[in-house]
Amino acid sequence: MEQCALCSGARIDGELGRVQVWEDALWRLTTSVGPGNPTLASSYLEPKRHIATIADLDGAEAATFGLVIARCSAVLRSVLEVPLVYVYVFGGGAGHLHVHLAPHVDGDALTTSMIRGELAEVTLPSGVRGWESVDFPGLPEGQLVEVADRLRAAFTDGVAGQGSSSPSCAAATSASPSVVRR
Ligand SMILES: [Zn+2]
Repeated sequence: MEQCALCSGARIDGELGRVQVWEDALWRLTTSVGPGNPTLASSYLEPKRHIATIADLDGAEAATFGLVIARCSAVLRSVLEVPLVYVYVFGGGAGHLHVHLAPHVDGDALTTSMIRGELAEVTLPSGVRGWESVDFPGLPEGQLVEVADRLRAAFTDGVAGQGSSSPSCAAATSASPSVVRR
């Protein structure tokens, strides 16, 4: 079985140019101190247990994820004195779930783009701004609606997610908040 680098915990931090700034029994938060980083406090939240992707999140980590990501984001926002912390989850690289937490100010190097190529800004009647791809044509509406219907049916039929391991709202609420205290 291939070794997972992020399962090495702090032993891999030096190579990755980061230092640990917080941990509890389930999670650790590291912050980039590596050369070449164009923004301050680019950080990584990851479970100590091997969980491959966000879609595999389960158990105690799933029950505490909301509390942990909120606290980590709030501390980053406060210490960096920025209005926003961007959150990115990709998953094609390390093979071990890690959430990018990136303090953001207007004009810095961070991007909000999820689509490659040129984008055109659109303003909805409500005033909400969005983006459309110039390089990639929109898919047929029927195809989009069909997938939405399949998703709705999957949730309704209870076949989506991890079945019994999916925490209900009640289960998440009952999780001990002590794990996110310092
Ligand atoms: Zn791992």
